[in-house]
Amino acid sequence: MSSSSKCPGCGAASIFQHRYVDAGSGRGPQLLPDLGGVGSYGTFTVFVCTDCGLTRFYAEPLTRAQVQQSPDWTRVS
Ligand SMILES: [Zn+2]
Repeated sequence: MSSSSKCPGCGAASIFQHRYVDAGSGRGPQLLPDLGGVGSYGTFTVFVCTDCGLTRFYAEPLTRAQVQQSPDWTRVS
């Protein structure tokens, strides 16, 4: 996970983060489905630059481990 204190979009040092954001709320796309059981989703850490609005999503470590072990996810590289 990137922990850079500068925004890669505008270079500002105005980054905020929120951890354990659910990746499948039922009101939007299911971004990390089928992890941790049927109907379960992975979680993100979300970084937002308050200067330009660039928003980045990084899968949490547990979610990344679940992706590697899930038969529903196909490795492409
Ligand atoms: Zn920015």
